[in-house]
Amino acid sequence: MPREPIIQPAADFKDEDRDLRPQRMQDMVGQREVYARLEIAVDAAAKRGESLGHILFDGPPGLGKTTFAMCIPRDLGVGFQIASGAALAAPKDIIPYLTNAEERSVLFIDEIHRLPKAVEEFLYPAMEDFRIDLTLGEGVNARTINMTLRPFTLIGATTRSGLLSAPLRDRFQMREHLDFYTVEQLAEIVRRNAKKLRVEIVDDAAEEIASRSRGTPRLANNRLRWVRDYAQSRADGRISLSVARDALAMQGIDPLGLDPQDRKYLETIARVFVGGPVGVEAVAHTMNVSPDTLIDEVEPFLLRSGLVVRTPRGRKLTPTAFAHLGISPADLPAEPGQRPLFL
Ligand code: ADP
Repeated sequence: MPREPIIQPAADFKDEDRDLRPQRMQDMVGQREVYARLEIAVDAAAKRGESLGHILFDGPPGLGKTTFAMCIPRDLGVGFQIASGAALAAPKDIIPYLTNAEERSVLFIDEIHRLPKAVEEFLYPAMEDFRIDLTLGEGVNARTINMTLRPFTLIGATTRSGLLSAPLRDRFQMREHLDFYTVEQLAEIVRRNAKKLRVEIVDDAAEEIASRSRGTPRLANNRLRWVRDYAQSRADGRISLSVARDALAMQGIDPLGLDPQDRKYLETIARVFVGGPVGVEAVAHTMNVSPDTLIDEVEPFLLRSGLVVRTPRGRKLTPTAFAHLGISPADLPAEPGQRPLFL
């Protein structure tokens, strides 16, 4: 009998998605190829009684990286620790995680691209040979001791695998990319989660929420929670198609699933930069948001759905985006900044 894993969240980790997060990999919807490969690796590691090889997940936020990372130790029946790359500022911050790691347990590092170089380098021998080099004392009295760790599995998650250094990337035995979900898959997630939330929903409404969730389970869950609130407050508690539509319209979510921030991004490129090409930093400054927010959260879906393209000179809107915004490129000035802006 696999025992229940010990969950040791980092102090700053709050699992807001806990009630709706699948507990086992087999309960996850979609990502079937990733699931099939992981299932084999998990099964083989369990049969050998060895630690599973290190795994790197990459892909836009909300697609299931953390969920996979939390299901794997449950499926293996091993312990689990969770840390965030942003909080590991120096090697000393990661030492407790490494020395506490039980044999075959999983250490999950979210946002692993945010690890400083010194921490990354400190991890290399830990990942490769399960040992760390500790420096004690300072100056002429400093000495290095070698400490052996129990074999463990590092699972890293990143929204930007391009920012990882090659040596770190190469130390992961498996690298899995998570892609956006289809509307059918999201509708299945919505239906299952409506049951968990004990709210009645018609199929059309589940599909409506799914098709307005930008291919992202986390957004489907957030939209479902909001639509449930709306149904309970403004209707009879059941989610019909019209209730779903009215609730989503009230949040400014359009039929493509774009929210006000997505549309503001498109409109900024359209009206301020006459459709582009424009660098993402310039768009971010104009919108008064960080470029990281745009790169991680806004652009992946817009690129994927062909509303924006990336060119060597920057981002450019496609005719589909202009049509969606209801703007005719012919109405825009020839050069950026030729007329006042009303965004
Ligand atoms: P990430 O770590 O990639 O940002 P998460 O794993 O935290 O995303 O996923 C966000 C939420 O979306 C989870 O809490 C879970 O409820 C839901 N979710 C993600 N992937 C799936 C999936 N394959 N099946 C069902 N729900 C999912």
